[in-house]
Amino acid sequence: LEKDVDDAVAKVEKIMGAKFGDEKNPLLFSVRSGARSSMPGMMETVLNVGLTSKTIPGMINQTNNERFVYDAYRRLIAMYSDVVMEKAAGIEPADGHGIREQLEHELEKMKKARGFNFDTELTAKDLKELIEIYKAKVKSVLGKSFPDDPKAVFQSWMGKRAISYRRIENIPDDWGTAVNVQTMVFGNMGDDSATGVAFTRNPATGENVFYGEWLPNAQGEDVVAGIRTPNPINKAGKTEDTTHLTSLEESMPELYKQLDDIQNKLERHYKDMQDIEFTIQKGRLWMLQTRVGKRNGPAAVAMAVEMCQEKLIDKKTAIMRVKPSQLDELLHPMVDPEAEKKAKELAKGLPAGPGGANGMIVFTADDAESWAKQGKTVILVRNETSPEDVHGMHAAAAILTAKGGMTSHAALVARGWGKCCIVGCSALQIDSAKKQLSVNGELLKEGDWISLNGTRGRVYKGKLGLVEPDLERNKYYKQLMTWADEVRELGIRTNADRPEDAAQARAFGAEGIGLCRTEHMFFDPERIMAMREMIVAENETNRRKAVMKLLPFQRKDFYGILKAMEGLPVTIRLLDPPLHEFVNLDAKQIKELSKDLGISEEKLKARVESLHELNPMLGHRGCRLGIAYPEITEMQARAIFEAAADLTKEGVKVYPEVMVPLTGIFTEFENQKAIIDRMVQEVMKEKNVKFKYLVGTMIEIPRACVTANEIAKTAEFFSFGTNDLTQTTFGFSRDDIGGFLPYYLVHNILPNDPFQSLDQNGVGQLVEMGVKRGRSVRPDLKIGICGEHGGDPDSIDFCHRAGLNYVSCSPFRVPIARLAAAHAAIQNGPQKK
Ligand code: PEP
Ligand code: MG
Repeated sequence: LEKDVDDAVAKVEKIMGAKFGDEKNPLLFSVRSGARSSMPGMMETVLNVGLTSKTIPGMINQTNNERFVYDAYRRLIAMYSDVVMEKAAGIEPADGHGIREQLEHELEKMKKARGFNFDTELTAKDLKELIEIYKAKVKSVLGKSFPDDPKAVFQSWMGKRAISYRRIENIPDDWGTAVNVQTMVFGNMGDDSATGVAFTRNPATGENVFYGEWLPNAQGEDVVAGIRTPNPINKAGKTEDTTHLTSLEESMPELYKQLDDIQNKLERHYKDMQDIEFTIQKGRLWMLQTRVGKRNGPAAVAMAVEMCQEKLIDKKTAIMRVKPSQLDELLHPMVDPEAEKKAKELAKGLPAGPGGANGMIVFTADDAESWAKQGKTVILVRNETSPEDVHGMHAAAAILTAKGGMTSHAALVARGWGKCCIVGCSALQIDSAKKQLSVNGELLKEGDWISLNGTRGRVYKGKLGLVEPDLERNKYYKQLMTWADEVRELGIRTNADRPEDAAQARAFGAEGIGLCRTEHMFFDPERIMAMREMIVAENETNRRKAVMKLLPFQRKDFYGILKAMEGLPVTIRLLDPPLHEFVNLDAKQIKELSKDLGISEEKLKARVESLHELNPMLGHRGCRLGIAYPEITEMQARAIFEAAADLTKEGVKVYPEVMVPLTGIFTEFENQKAIIDRMVQEVMKEKNVKFKYLVGTMIEIPRACVTANEIAKTAEFFSFGTNDLTQTTFGFSRDDIGGFLPYYLVHNILPNDPFQSLDQNGVGQLVEMGVKRGRSVRPDLKIGICGEHGGDPDSIDFCHRAGLNYVSCSPFRVPIARLAAAHAAIQNGPQKK
């Protein structure tokens, strides 16, 4: 490596006509990370490397600008002591104030003493004095004077905020980073110098316009660190709030033209939107870096579709360009426009992350995290956009900062996550110590509610209502989903228990219902009484009486749901109530129910106690209930088939699929199927009508996977209930995992929560076994998944590979599942069935 570095340095020296460390004509370097996956702002950069007391006179001679050289030197000390001497050395500042902050404080102190407002007012003499103060401070705080060592950037890979960012973005630690060493160029060499950050397309909307920000006479970090609020790069980028600012296009038209040509070329070469940094040094344009730009969900969709239409990329690439989770942002709420008209506008800022949010003000990232853990909705309000705040930004519903621009780190990070975010809201005067802020004459405290319109950059007092977005009018979304539907093989169904949810899911593209949990239909106060009556009944006569009270309700439910899904299959699961959810009665409820049933309170209490189970999730639920009390299965089957018969007579096409829960033994299934078949015959005869139907089972007990070949002899479809299958495979209670899961994650015992993302190695093997054995006796067995994993992109990828026919998930995850299924088809090729 050393030889390579020497050779490379010599090459740059030749191009630049200067020498590293040379007293007369010194060459300076910038040292920055080159991580494999972009981590905006998380990795450290050291600029001006090569500036020492020896080379300073040479630099002054070359640039003819003493003030500039001392300013660069001051910045080097600040960056170097921060990155190399403190962070890379793993020194945690005792009182939380790092060396950089302490040096900043010295700068502020000097400005105050001189009566200055701006850094630029400091003279060369002031800076020289400041440098001595900095050096003394570094020595006293860190116990060392500073040597030059560009290797430090390697060590910032293990910096605290870089680690935290990788956890959130799932970037492995062992990827490591490269280091780029570049010659220094300066954007702060006077009015013919400038610096900027730009995107080849608008990263907030996806619009195909060159988009960016610049600052005359400034260094790169001034733009990205949000210290000065920058100007728009071109006329097209001006908004109602920035019309008065001068764009680069107007100020340096020729250089702008050159930059515009380069950005075009870069995008055509990399075939993706680029995030570029440039510097103009004394009228000459230098490109500092280019990388694939972060973008929010709506922009990702728009860009992918347009780039495909422009023939820059093909359809498959366009589909792969959008992460399924990014679609969440298209489903995001916005501030209710009516409420917004009437609301009190507190301030304006830059619209860095679109969408709307409301929340309680918090002033630190730690507070954001801890309040959010308590279930509160918070908006993180900060002065500056420090990447140290990543964890709090992630926990907050939205982010609001007083300083910074659209390309500041807070804006980039928030946009990557699709978070509502406003930056550069300069009217805010934040007093973090007192946990309060004043804005245009209003005083707001921690815990006060505010609302943000991140699309327009407006801050409002109070809690404004939010409205759902209108996917219907998003032509890019529609196009992308059409392409995704063309390539995916997995069907997408939804888990819905009410006609309105079913309709919502259908609008999102669901192709049927994969799970209708009938016990969810009984939470209504009118029905829960009858349900309880049924459960506590001591003999068949009383139970039948209670059960039959439920029949008309159920028939109406099924009618509604089958109608909402006209022409599509609807899987209705027979009752599967964990008993504790329904007979956890308080004194008042005991009193009411005993009156209703005409039995004494004592007797009822004794009955409820006899129903008590130590492990209700492993107790008398699922088909165990229907086997012990066949009248329940009879009633439900009758209700389903009567609804189906009525609809068929009305000319509505229905495809009911009756599903038996919690089967572990094929005889359990056969017992229930016999009842269901008997009921369908009865109903068809009574109503003199015929319709198609299927009877199948949930597979959610390990024994069912192992004996799937026995079950599939009579079961016409399988649906994997991976919630219970995960519970019973691990022996973890799905209700109580919160007690130890955090430790499992911290100690890397599990990579993630197996109830969120399918445990492919363990539970997954059982699923594969179930599929194989089931299809060994019934080759065309229809198989789906209806556990929560059906909406998780990684688990969907697994389902594709396992040869499932469909996944079923909650309505708002349907679009995500459609795209994830397309990704699975592209990544894995055709399904093996
Ligand atoms: C399951 O166990 O995965 C399932 C879908 O059923 P429930 O969550 O209702 O137990
Ligand atoms: Mg289950």
